[in-house]
Amino acid sequence: MGKKFKHYNHETDKQNPVFDTGMIFSDCKVFREAVCEYCLLSGKEVTFTRNEKYKLKAVCKAVSCPWQIYVAWKNPTDRSLVAKYYNPNHNCVRVFQNTQAPSKWLTEKFLPRIQSNPTMPPQSIVNAASSEFKVGISRMKAYRAKADALRMIEGSIAEQYAMLWDYCHELEDKNPGSTTKIQCEFVDGEAVFKRLYICLEPLKKGFKMNCRSFIGLDACHLNGVYGGQLLTAVGIDPNNETWVLAYAVVEMETRESWTWFIDLLAKDVDIYQDSKGQANYHNARDDQVLVDEKDPVDEGQDEQLASSNIKWDLSSIPCTHGIAAIHYKGGKAVEDYVHSYYSKDSYMALYNNLTVPINGSQLWEKTNQPAIKPPAYTRQPGRPRKVRIKGAEEGIDRSGKKGWEDKECK
Ligand SMILES: [Zn+2]
Repeated sequence: MGKKFKHYNHETDKQNPVFDTGMIFSDCKVFREAVCEYCLLSGKEVTFTRNEKYKLKAVCKAVSCPWQIYVAWKNPTDRSLVAKYYNPNHNCVRVFQNTQAPSKWLTEKFLPRIQSNPTMPPQSIVNAASSEFKVGISRMKAYRAKADALRMIEGSIAEQYAMLWDYCHELEDKNPGSTTKIQCEFVDGEAVFKRLYICLEPLKKGFKMNCRSFIGLDACHLNGVYGGQLLTAVGIDPNNETWVLAYAVVEMETRESWTWFIDLLAKDVDIYQDSKGQANYHNARDDQVLVDEKDPVDEGQDEQLASSNIKWDLSSIPCTHGIAAIHYKGGKAVEDYVHSYYSKDSYMALYNNLTVPINGSQLWEKTNQPAIKPPAYTRQPGRPRKVRIKGAEEGIDRSGKKGWEDKECK
């Protein structure tokens, strides 16, 4: 039996290539990449003195350094290479400005960072390559690596836009009753993405049954290649935390895009306009019941209560004056005046509405709709806002309390 030689696995061994005599490389390309990776990680510069597809020899660039590796075809039929000779010893010192980094290697290393920040300046790539990998590169090389990375990212994003119909179908299939809406523009007979609205059935149902009747709306910039903005609608759960209700991707935060979003949302949560033009809940849980329930308090305290009614109405929790009045009156406990929204049962019931996860994209049913092209819109000019615009209630008041801290009722 012959000696079993170790195979060089490019995917796993490239993190830290270790060579050995007798090691097998699947082809000359893999060997070149392995040597390149070794150079950049170990801080050495090597050069190929033989560079043919059947015979390659790499030696250390430093004068009189003995490091070298020689590989040749094991047999011409399968084209794999075997390391015939390897001397792992260097007597040279580390090179701090390794100029051998190829553009492809740079692209691979910086792809995740460019994906999360497509506007990363080439100079940042130069700096990061120098500090993290001890590799000196020119700005032009960094620029080319970035351009390659963006092409790769945009290519994969275009494929994802093409899958939107199938994605929405899968969402509705796994969560029946959900609303998904894709709006496209037609350019030269091709569908180009404009807007996407998603309201999942479990979130919608939970909101209608167990959330307080408040809807918070907000928007934020999307930092991807195509930009755009994300609009969201959230409710408040019984623990006073946010409950995501619906979300949409739109070209820009405008009156038109908000109107489109709110019209769809209103249909989903059964808000309709009455004859007076006021918005109402269709299947209202009659929040007014609460106001009637606190009626038993004496006439005398009514005046006192009236002043804090607004807050009590909004939160459905009695304020300090209310509690004093309830104790004065006696009979019922304070908890009886707190709305059942806040009960544990209501909280448990809300989170019983589980969103069913969807399958991986390879298992999605094909709807065979024409593929959607990525949007025509690009990032908005100027720097996107990083700090959220604070609500009127969120400032710091004179007593030093932040807006969300409990304010005394007046
Ligand atoms: Zn050396």
